[in-house]
Amino acid sequence: MIDSHSHTFYSKHAVGTVDELVRASIAAGVKILTVTDHAPFPVDSENRLLEEELEHYFADIELARQEYKGQIRILRGLEFDYMPGVDAYNRDLLARYELDFAIGSIHYVELEGEPMAKVWELPRLSASAFLDRYFANLHALLECGLFDAVGHADTLLRGVAEDALLRRMEPLLPLFARNGVAYELNASGIRKSSLVPGSTREIHGVWNYPSRILLSQLIAHGATFTIGSDAHDPLDAGSGISALVDELQPLGLERISYFEGRRRIDMPLNYFSPALGAETRIEPREYSIE
Ligand SMILES: [Zn+2]
Ligand SMILES: [Zn+2]
Repeated sequence: MIDSHSHTFYSKHAVGTVDELVRASIAAGVKILTVTDHAPFPVDSENRLLEEELEHYFADIELARQEYKGQIRILRGLEFDYMPGVDAYNRDLLARYELDFAIGSIHYVELEGEPMAKVWELPRLSASAFLDRYFANLHALLECGLFDAVGHADTLLRGVAEDALLRRMEPLLPLFARNGVAYELNASGIRKSSLVPGSTREIHGVWNYPSRILLSQLIAHGATFTIGSDAHDPLDAGSGISALVDELQPLGLERISYFEGRRRIDMPLNYFSPALGAETRIEPREYSIE
């Protein structure tokens, strides 16, 4: 299994060391793990790596890479925040550190005359001012040329009706393939709460994202996909990935990619889920796993 989105204590709102995450991932059957803690950013600095911690972060990853060689491949990633006007900040970080994988995510949205909205403030997500700005920012993210994948673009489904999301996403569908930005299938949807449609009541245990319909549309537009547990605790290492692949395979999903040295590598679905039989077996393209 491959997990291309994971966090450690370096993100501050996550727990577990790199070593603990790696050991839990091995136990969960992960063969290729990308550690993607929240990258330094001028906003919300208590919830992410600080610039002065980056050397330590990469050193921890390198240490684990040596320690667990032959058991798991460990890749250097970061989850960047995207907001218009901060391209220079992200560009500078990307130029200074060699990464395997750079995720661009939107967690914060600036709104005129209102406090900054966060994507986990569920009752605010369905406001049209929020949606207008979120999708304008997503459009800009897809055009900025900095990232390999968009992180959890459909996490909005925790508080937004699927048809509203699909309508807003439609003009962006061709941009994933055209700009070479993968769409992340984020497996944390099952672990997170969502609002009962039309109310502010939060419920748990519903797989609120990714959207099945959106997935089919993205496939039709030639998008590529990455997948990640988005674990913020070693207890969630690799969590949900095989189940999600089993769910999505009948919808026409044929391969899932990961990134090494910022280069996309496509893998057959049976690599992610032992349940998928030989008839769905596709050999890895341009790569074989040791
Ligand atoms: Zn986080
Ligand atoms: Zn995120």
